[in-house]
Amino acid sequence: EIDTDPKTLKMRVSQLWSWIYQKGLTNFSLMSNLSKDYRSKLSNSFHLRRPKLLKKELGSDGTTKFLLELYDGNKIETVYIPERNRGTVCISSQVGCTLNCSFCHTGTQKLVRNLSSEEIVSQILFVKDELSDWSALKNQLTIKRLISNIVIMGMGEPLYNFESVRDALKIVMDCEGVSISKRKITLSTSGVVPNIVKVGEEIGCLLAVSFHATTDEVRNRLVPINKKWNIDELLNTLRSYPTLSNTARITFEYVMLRDVNDSDEDAKRLVQLISGIPAKINLIPFNSWPGTKYKGSSATRISSFSKIVNNAGYSSPIRHPRGLDIMAACGQLKSASKPVKRLREVKLNG
Ligand code: SAH
Ligand code: SF4
Repeated sequence: EIDTDPKTLKMRVSQLWSWIYQKGLTNFSLMSNLSKDYRSKLSNSFHLRRPKLLKKELGSDGTTKFLLELYDGNKIETVYIPERNRGTVCISSQVGCTLNCSFCHTGTQKLVRNLSSEEIVSQILFVKDELSDWSALKNQLTIKRLISNIVIMGMGEPLYNFESVRDALKIVMDCEGVSISKRKITLSTSGVVPNIVKVGEEIGCLLAVSFHATTDEVRNRLVPINKKWNIDELLNTLRSYPTLSNTARITFEYVMLRDVNDSDEDAKRLVQLISGIPAKINLIPFNSWPGTKYKGSSATRISSFSKIVNNAGYSSPIRHPRGLDIMAACGQLKSASKPVKRLREVKLNG
């Protein structure tokens, strides 16, 4: 039977976490510091499984997109983006998305279901397997970790799956878990206002907000959740975010759509709107997809917009699209999974 002494339990958990999250084992029988008897009990009651790789695409810039099959046959996409000084895994939080932002490819896929916290963490463990990025197996002094950053910017709206995303990130952030600091994790939301405060209080990672417009009229069209929580409500909530989590600047994501939201007036309105919020504006060139009605802004338009934002004192990097040739860039992810359950049977936390 399982020992219930708190000290022993704590030690067991430490040992198991180390095998699972630091060494990447998927087989209990190899966990050599546990008794044979205990190992076989674990093997009889639990699985340490990974999603199944269905397709792996390597982009010309080194970006790798993985199409993964979950245990019920649903499919999601996870992306690895290598950069000179860091490596980022972009993870999904849902199969599909309930929202339908008009410029987003994922939004054309209906929500199938939320991912469990296990499925969220296992995307990272899967990429660590692929890259052999298990720190405990390396000489940490000489070899860099290939996965240094996590962005929750794949398929789905993470704040409509709050509990699972939070529980997954707790494992990712824990120094006995995957051990990636909260400062290296960015959660992107389209603006689920009631849960933004909870990200600060219960997770504490960096926050990115898909802002994309400077009037409610335009934002209603681009990011329809704006009809529920408009620009004013969103900004009021963001004003209280940094103090709550004592964290760094908020990233405002702004996709540059030709003749829709990219004028100099938009840039000026943007800096007025966000005044007082410690922020960085990430200008995202539009990534096209089959069937979209939008066109991306020209390079000169983007740079003129960026100058206005910059002169107002905000850093406004233009996000260099990664993985474009394999449809792995922002907003291009989509899997073929279709809803089998009716929507109201899917538990939403929003
Ligand atoms: N659902 C969350 C996170 C996933 S989307 C959210 O909306 O924030 C990650 C980012 O990609 C968001 O800022 C989203 O607005 C942006 N995006 C979506 N479609 C895009 C496209 N076609 N081109 C460029 N960026 C896009
Ligand atoms: Fe969903 Fe984000 Fe795409 Fe909007 S931009 S449809 S919230 S994944």
